[in-house]
Formats: sequence, structure tokens, C-alpha cells
Amino acid sequence: MKYGACNIVSFKKDQIEYLFSQAYPANMAMLAAAVLVIFSLTYQGEVQHISWFFAVFLGCFSARMLLLRRFNKKDRTTSYQQYANYYVLTSLLLGLDWALLSFAYYDLNNDELRFFLTIVNLGLITAAVGSLSMWMKAYIAFSLPQILSLMVINALNNNLLVTVSLFIFSWFMFVIARNTNLKFKQGRQLIRQNIKLIDKMETEIQNRKKAQLNLEQAQEVLEDLVKERTSELLEANLDLKEQIDKRCEVEKDLHHLAYYDVLTGLPNRVMLIERLKAAVIKAQKNDTLFAVLFVDLDRFKAINDSLGHAVGDQLIQQVSVRLKNALREDDVIARNGGDEFVIILEKMSDVRSAFVVAEKLIACTAALFEINGHDVHIGTSIGIATYPIDGIDALDLLKMADTAMYYAKDVGSNSFEFYSSEMSNRIKGRLELENALRLAVENEDFYLVFQPQCDIHSNATTGFEALIRWNSAEFGQVSPAVFVPVLEETGMIYVVGDWVIKEVLQFIKSGKARNAKVSINLSALQCGVNQYSEKIKKYIDQSNVNPAQIEFEITESVLIKDFNKTEAFLNSIHELGCTIALDDFGSGYTSFKYLAKLPIDIIKIDRSVISGIDHKKNLQDIVKAIVTMCRGLAIDNVFEGVESEKELETVRRLGAKTVQGFYFSKPLRLDAIAPWFGDDHKRNNLEKNEVNNEI
Ligand code: C2E
Ligand code: MG
Ligand code: MG
Repeated sequence: MKYGACNIVSFKKDQIEYLFSQAYPANMAMLAAAVLVIFSLTYQGEVQHISWFFAVFLGCFSARMLLLRRFNKKDRTTSYQQYANYYVLTSLLLGLDWALLSFAYYDLNNDELRFFLTIVNLGLITAAVGSLSMWMKAYIAFSLPQILSLMVINALNNNLLVTVSLFIFSWFMFVIARNTNLKFKQGRQLIRQNIKLIDKMETEIQNRKKAQLNLEQAQEVLEDLVKERTSELLEANLDLKEQIDKRCEVEKDLHHLAYYDVLTGLPNRVMLIERLKAAVIKAQKNDTLFAVLFVDLDRFKAINDSLGHAVGDQLIQQVSVRLKNALREDDVIARNGGDEFVIILEKMSDVRSAFVVAEKLIACTAALFEINGHDVHIGTSIGIATYPIDGIDALDLLKMADTAMYYAKDVGSNSFEFYSSEMSNRIKGRLELENALRLAVENEDFYLVFQPQCDIHSNATTGFEALIRWNSAEFGQVSPAVFVPVLEETGMIYVVGDWVIKEVLQFIKSGKARNAKVSINLSALQCGVNQYSEKIKKYIDQSNVNPAQIEFEITESVLIKDFNKTEAFLNSIHELGCTIALDDFGSGYTSFKYLAKLPIDIIKIDRSVISGIDHKKNLQDIVKAIVTMCRGLAIDNVFEGVESEKELETVRRLGAKTVQGFYFSKPLRLDAIAPWFGDDHKRNNLEKNEVNNEI
């Protein structure tokens, strides 16, 4: 390692402190040496120079001790450099003191004493290496006078060898002192460097600790952040899972809504078509048969309208359960909409299986339904189409089964039909009729004819029955027996029924009916409409017609629907002052117990029990019984469909009073009414018809 001057200078303070730290022992040792020398000189009797030597010595000794004391007290009014200078000065004075002492005795004959003094000088110079070498100026100041003095003494005594030896000695002592000085500085430098290094290391350690702390804190923050993020992530995951679950549920619900019927839980039409297509593919692959059964409830609309939608809904639900229970697990049942169900019978060995299932389905729906305290009867019509006999396309098969169902409906309630190609034509015709009727309703293409009811005894016209007519541009004159059921099935009967009532009121108001009553046929559907009597009352009030001149004809089918409702409706009509006639009596199976309870004024005996009555004993017996019953119940009769003189005579014999039939007149157009009254209508002119206004 190299030491620059400035580095060495920078250790001055350390050097001076070390110098002063050696001052006390060095002084004491030197005092001991001085005492030893004085003692030796005194002992040898050489005392002439002792006093000045000791005086100077003590002066320097004391000055040094005082300087040391001041230095140790850290009196810094004197600078380090000044302390060092004073020390050098005292060293010089002491060195001179010792040198002069030896010189003073140079001519001494006592060699031993001179040698002793030389040894003392050399000892002091040697000892000064240890105590003064860290401040070379002090060392030189102390040792140089002494060594010079010794060299001069020996030179004067011609001891050249000793002089040279002294020079060599002093030179090496100087080298040692110089090396010691350098080593000291080196040591100090190393210490300084070590201290610096330690400082640096400590700083480094501190920094590292700080960094470590920061790192730990950062790690903690990071861990907290990670924890936070993890919990956030977990929460987000939970949220996401919840959302996914919800979405799945919604999708499930949507899927259910899209493919299943809400009311019954059965597959809906969309699902049905998919199943049908799948059935076609399966049957094609396996070369098997399957059947499509189109099930439609009879009179459902009437029940729905009369008993309300809640009952209708429950009925559909109960029917769906019964149908499902009647089927096998493998069979598919779907709700096509409204009161229609479709069943796919797969794994069918032959067509007879469909036959058996259809019978089973009809039987299970024929039993009574109890809904909200109502006893409800319904019928079922089923159309059947089979794959591949009738068709190989799913939608075609569905259409064919539908067509067959319409055909079954026409045949009568609780029946089923297998599809045949002729059916399609018929159904097509029926649809065309329906469309034409819709147009007719829109355009009010109907008109009324009035069939007189005559007193059998006086031939007087006691009443008219208003009968609707439709002369279609497409179909010609269509019988109401054909189009009225279509109006009922399509719901158009309400509009048309209202129109009939208004027309009849108009007819009465015009006075053309004179005092005769005019009867209006009411559909069972109209009777089921809530507050329908109020509507009728409103119409009557508006027309200012005497209610006693109005008669309403109801059919037996009204009675078996909802008796309580019918009873209330009929009572309210009756209270208006209108009379009520039970139409088509004898054609069905009226429960006589109803008759006593209901406000029925007239029973119209159906044409089916009048036609041929003159020669049919059984018909005479039936009519006789009816007449007897009516008398018992104080109900009048109208005999419908009397066509011949013989029939007239027979019914007269059986107690008939009022007769309506072709014998007297066919239904008359409006403009034929006045002539009818003007004529002598006792004549039985069968040629007269409703088209011919001249009777
Ligand atoms: P209905 O109420 O029993 O009417 C009597 C039917 O018997 C009428 O047929 C009438 O023309 C027919 N008729 C009367 N006397 C004779 C006869 O001596 N011989 C024959 N062969 N027939 C006779 P129409 O007008 O064809 O009516 C058929 C049915 O259509 C009616 O039977 C009634 O149920 C229904 N209808 C007619 N007009 C209306 C209406 O305005 N509203 C409702 N809801 N139904 C109506
Ligand atoms: Mg009638
Ligand atoms: Mg009738």
C-alpha cells in the first residue's frame, strides 16, 4: 500500500495523541536514567557538571509534565500542532542536556564512566525510538544532539571506529524510528480504513436491513394485496358461479317455456313437431309403424265461455292427467294448443293398437269431471293418421290426424276416425264455408224469415218463429242447420245472435207481426254469456217493444250445461216479461225434473216425433205423454213440422192447440208477412214458400 503525504498529514492528530500517551512513561524512565547517571557520577566523584545538567533536566521534565497535563485536560486553546512543537522543543532541550553532559566529560580519564555515559546516551536514543518515533521531529531533536556529541567526543579521542559505529548505529536507529513511524501511520490508516469499512459495512448493513425491512413490508403489502385480490377473485368467482347458475336456470326455464306447455307441463307444439320428426326418422330406419292421434275436446269452448276460464284451465289440466295415465311410458303426449292434444304411438305392431288406445282415451275423458263444485261432462273426438300408410312427413301426418278429428267431430261426440283422403276434401269444404261465413258476418249477409204458428181451431196466427237465412254467393242457399253450428264453433254466433234479436225487435216494432208473438232461437252459447239478459233488456228497452210479444227458444242442450246459470238466465228473461219455449222437445233426452224448476212457458214438440205421426202409433204415444206432462206442468205446446192434413188431424186429436209447419206455411220473407195476414191462411197451400211472397 502506498501512503501519500496528504494521507500521512491527515494522521497528525493520531500521532500527536500517541506521542503524548508515551510522554509520561518516557519521562519517568528518563528521570530514572538521570537519577542513575547522577548517582553514578556522584559515586565516582565527578560532580562538577551534575547541577546544571539536573537543573536543565528538571526544567524540561517539569515543562513536559505540565504540557502533558494540559494536553490530557484537553485544553484546546493550544492547537495540536503547537503541542507537538512544544514537545519537540522539550525533546531538543533534553537531547542537548544529555549531549552536553556526555561532552562535558569527554576528556575524562575514567573510561568506565565515559563508557557508562555513552551507553546511557545510546540507551536513551534506542528508547526514544519507541516513545518519539511517531513524531520524527521530536525523535531527531532528541537523538541528533546526543549522537553528534558522542561522535564528536570519540573523534576528539581519536576513536574513529567508534565514531563510525556510532554513525551506523544512529543511522539504523533513524531507519527503525522512521519505519516505526511509517508502520504507525500505516496502522492508523488501516484502522481508519477499517473504521470506514466498518462504517460503510454498517451503513451497508443498515441499508440492507432497511431494504430488507422495506422488502418485508412490501412483501406484507403484496401478501395483503394478494389476499385481498384472492378474496376478491373468490367473491368474483362466487358471483360468476351464481350468475352462471342463474343463467343456467333461466336457460332451463326458457327451454322449458319454449318446449313445454305452462298449463299442463306437457310438451308443446314446438316439441311435438320435433318428436314427430324424430319418430319419422326412427320409423324409416327401423321400418316400423306409428300413429298420430289428434285429440280434441267437444264443447270445450261452451264450457270455457259459460263456466269461466279458470274452470276451463282446470279441465284441460285434469284431461291432460287422465290422457297421460291412459298411455304407456313410451307414448308421447303433447298439448297442441287450446283443447287439442296430440299423441304419438310408437312401437305399434299394427293399426289396431291405435284403435284400442283411441277407445281407451275416449272412455277416460267421458267420466265426470268435478271442478270447483261444478260437474262437467265433455266428449272427445279423435282423428288418427298412421305412418307410413297415410303419409311419411311429420307435418302432413299431423294435418291428416287433425282432418280425421274434424270428421270424427261431425260424426258425433266421443268418436274417433282414421284418416282417409276423402276427408281432406270434406274438411277443405268446411273451411271454405267457414271463410265465406266470416265474410257474411262482416257484411251482414243474413236475413230473417218468419214461420207462422197458427191456432189449430181458429186458424189465427198466434206467433212467428224467426229463422235465419244465408244466401251465399259461393254456396247458394245454406241451411241454418249447417251454418249455425259453424257460427257456434267459431264464436261468430254472438255477433249474429245479437243481430237476430235486433232484427226481430225491428220486425215487431214495424207492426208487421201485429199482435203475434215472435220467437227468437238462442244458441246455448248465448245463454252462457254473463249478464246476457241485461243486454237483451237493453235492446228491448231501446226498441220500445212489448216484451210479452217476444219469445225465446232454447234447446235442451242449454239445460244440461250449467243448470244454475241457465236457471238464473231464464228467470231474468222471464222477469222481463218474455216467454220461454223449449225447442226440439222429443228429439233428445230432457230430464223432466228440470222442467218443473225452470220458467218454461211452451214446449215445442220436435218435427222428428210429428213427421208420420198419423200412421206411427209409437209417436202418438210419445206425443200423448208429452201433452199430458205439459198439462200437468201448465205448459203450452207448439207442434212443429206438421205438413199434412192427416198429421194435423192426428195432433188435433192428441190435444194440439198451436201448430207450426209447412201445412200452414213455410217460413215467410218479410215482405210476405202482410199478404199472409191479408189472406185466408186456412188454405193449406204447400206450393207457397218463403220465396213466394204471395200466399
Ligand atoms: P228450429 O228452431 O227447430 O226451427 C224449425 C225448423 O224446422 C226450421 O228449419 C223450419 O224451416 C223447419 N220446419 C218448420 N216446419 C217444417 C215442416 O213442416 N217441415 C219441414 N221439413 N221443416 C219444417 P230451419 O229454418 O232450416 O232451421 C233449422 C234450425 O236452425 C232451427 O231449428 C234452429 O235450431 C236453427 N236456427 C234457425 N234460425 C236460427 C237463429 O236465428 N238462431 C239460432 N241460434 N238458431 C237458428
Ligand atoms: Mg226453433
Ligand atoms: Mg224446433
